[in-house]
Amino acid sequence: MALDPNCLFCKIVRKEIAANEVLRDDHVVAFHDLNPQAPTHVLVIPTSHAQDLSAFTAGADAEQAARLLHAAAEIGARFGPGGYRVVMNQGRDAGQSVFHLHAHVLAGRAMAWPPG
Ligand code: IMP
Repeated sequence: MALDPNCLFCKIVRKEIAANEVLRDDHVVAFHDLNPQAPTHVLVIPTSHAQDLSAFTAGADAEQAARLLHAAAEIGARFGPGGYRVVMNQGRDAGQSVFHLHAHVLAGRAMAWPPG
């Protein structure tokens, strides 16, 4: 998958928009959320454009999907040694507002269950 010139998070991948990055490699970029919902709130995104989880294919995107999860775990371990939450909002009903796949990594406070 390529980058989408009109996508906000693709612009962060290209460094056309600044972000407070915590990790970057060939597969993922991770950066602090602009509107944090916990003391640590980091977004992990693939470096190629997929609008949401359903756009990730089992074959071609397997390595990138695995890296996304591993990066979320690395960031969770770094910022939330006592525990952290990984969330992916899929579609508008789930609250997705940016249509470039991303995992939220939330840490630094007790989490309620179920999420709202
Ligand atoms: P969603 O609602 O699951 O799609 O999450 C999108 C997230 O992106 C929200 O938590 C926003 O606060 C965050 N966000 C939007 N624009 C930016 C940005 O430019 N930098 C960092 N985070 C952003």
